[in-house]
Amino acid sequence: MCGIVGYLGRNSAVPIVLAALKKLEYRGYDSSGIAIYNQDELKIYKEAGKIFELESALPKPELTMSNIAIAHTRWATHGEPNKKNAHPHHDKLKNIALVHNGIIENYKQLRDILCDHDDQVEGETDTEILAHVIGYFYNKHHSLEEAVRASLHLVEGTYGIAVFCKDNPKQMIAARKGSPLILGVSKDAYFLTSDVNAILTHTNKVIYLNDNEIAVLNEDNYLISTLDNVPVDPEIATIEWEASSIEKNGFKHFMLKEIFEQTTTVRHAFRGRLYDSMATARLGGLNMVPSDLRKVKRLQLLACGTSYYSCLLGKYLIERMARLHVEVEYASEYRYRNPIIEDDTLVFVVSQSGETADTLAAMKEASAKGARVMGITNGIGSTIARESDGGVYIYAGAEIGVASTKAFTSQVTILFLLGLLFGRMRGISPVQGIEYIKALRKIPAQIEEILKLNDKIREIAAKIKDSTNALYLGRDLHFPVALEGALKLKEISYIHAEGYPAAEMKHGPIALIDENMPVIAIAPKDVLYDKIISNLQEVVARKGRLFTIITEHDEQIEAMSEEVLIVPKTLSELQPILTVIPLQLLAYHVADLRELDVDQPRNLAKSVTVE
Ligand code: GLU
Repeated sequence: MCGIVGYLGRNSAVPIVLAALKKLEYRGYDSSGIAIYNQDELKIYKEAGKIFELESALPKPELTMSNIAIAHTRWATHGEPNKKNAHPHHDKLKNIALVHNGIIENYKQLRDILCDHDDQVEGETDTEILAHVIGYFYNKHHSLEEAVRASLHLVEGTYGIAVFCKDNPKQMIAARKGSPLILGVSKDAYFLTSDVNAILTHTNKVIYLNDNEIAVLNEDNYLISTLDNVPVDPEIATIEWEASSIEKNGFKHFMLKEIFEQTTTVRHAFRGRLYDSMATARLGGLNMVPSDLRKVKRLQLLACGTSYYSCLLGKYLIERMARLHVEVEYASEYRYRNPIIEDDTLVFVVSQSGETADTLAAMKEASAKGARVMGITNGIGSTIARESDGGVYIYAGAEIGVASTKAFTSQVTILFLLGLLFGRMRGISPVQGIEYIKALRKIPAQIEEILKLNDKIREIAAKIKDSTNALYLGRDLHFPVALEGALKLKEISYIHAEGYPAAEMKHGPIALIDENMPVIAIAPKDVLYDKIISNLQEVVARKGRLFTIITEHDEQIEAMSEEVLIVPKTLSELQPILTVIPLQLLAYHVADLRELDVDQPRNLAKSVTVE
């Protein structure tokens, strides 16, 4: 959450930093700002709203010429999202500019201790206090580096920060604890960013700052050290992603593009990981030999949001395929709950970005309790990727739409591979293993088929776009799909939606059903088919409007439904990857027909790096 960009180099910083900031806009978009050094002055420009508001408010280029800049796109935690609370913030004497991602938890105490009573604190944010604290120490030490160190020693909370001072516009300082911050290195410039995608057009050589590290960037060199001033010899990583992967490529929204990419992204998730001759999966990144894997008796899957639903589906999959006990928990609950971890428990943390603050904290809690922790993430080089004991990349490419789509199907693909891997060790026959592999290989082509329903789904979306509520029903593996479908609708269309196990409906939500209530049911022909038919009859009997996702040749449900969407049949374990796609498209079209900001829904942001 919130995006930070910094530039120190020989070129004009403002256009570079603004272009990079736009690539981070998915992380927060309630206000933005930039600090530069121009005509011997520290100048800060900020605006409420999206980055184009800032861009249009900037004075003409001669007045913004600068070789140094820091910029921020905000997702407010403390203080209203307005102009005065937008970053960058400055200290009392306006010497120092600061951008910050995270939360300074003890900002009230810092304000009481260190700010003079006549200090002009303008806004309500925690960040502004940190700027004043740094300014206070700068006036004492006359060294920005010392001032930042001294200030951060006092801070409780999390931060990724970038700071510079008007007395030395050839130096920028960055530090990190709990919020991602990456230093990009090119021939003639240094960059700071919260997400590597923002700077890929300039460099693919990056250094991931670790917690409690400070980077001091000067014109021709940089030095990284710990907060306690122990020098660090950083590893420079080379990023393989192409910058073009973060364009819309002709689609109206990133979300739509990402839904359509799933033919490829699901394939990328399993590519090179199917071990035909042994009828199993090969997940080398787990760094575990088969004898270690065989000792595992329990998995814990920890995640937030959409990733939590993919984990819930993972539980159904892995317990069914491998007869291995799986617990799923919200990372935000797990971290404070003193969870039980035994010697034979293996923990997986699942996060698209690999930076989700709650998931990171859950990972640390599990590690502190002695567990071996694996990451499943899309974030190459992300904190989870670096700090876990091993894991699996989903290789879905940059996901920019705030509502996650392709990451979900890729995560489920990986969890299916885990089911296959553990399953083959715990009873699945080679014949069954091969059947799974063959079915998985067909999934991308089947997704292609489903995408052809796009126009029909838009027509259905038009029928439900004015509803105020929607109910999503599914049984067994399709219950988590129902939850995910409802979440998608809520996130981007602001229609209240609930996901429910179809049979549970009669224990409560059935009271909501009337002729205005769209009920979206996932009802492929599988073992519980007859049962779900009865549940759907209960909807029809109460005049609920039934929209169903079914498999071929299902006249019975077709006759009961106002509309049906037919998806190809696959093995029941893989069917959810197919049934979720119409739900993603449905949510997309409902939001688009309501003329809402699909990629940047209100109040949300992607990559939730605050607690
Ligand atoms: N706490 C800071 C603010 O509210 C930064 C928020 C963030 O990391 O998104 O402005």
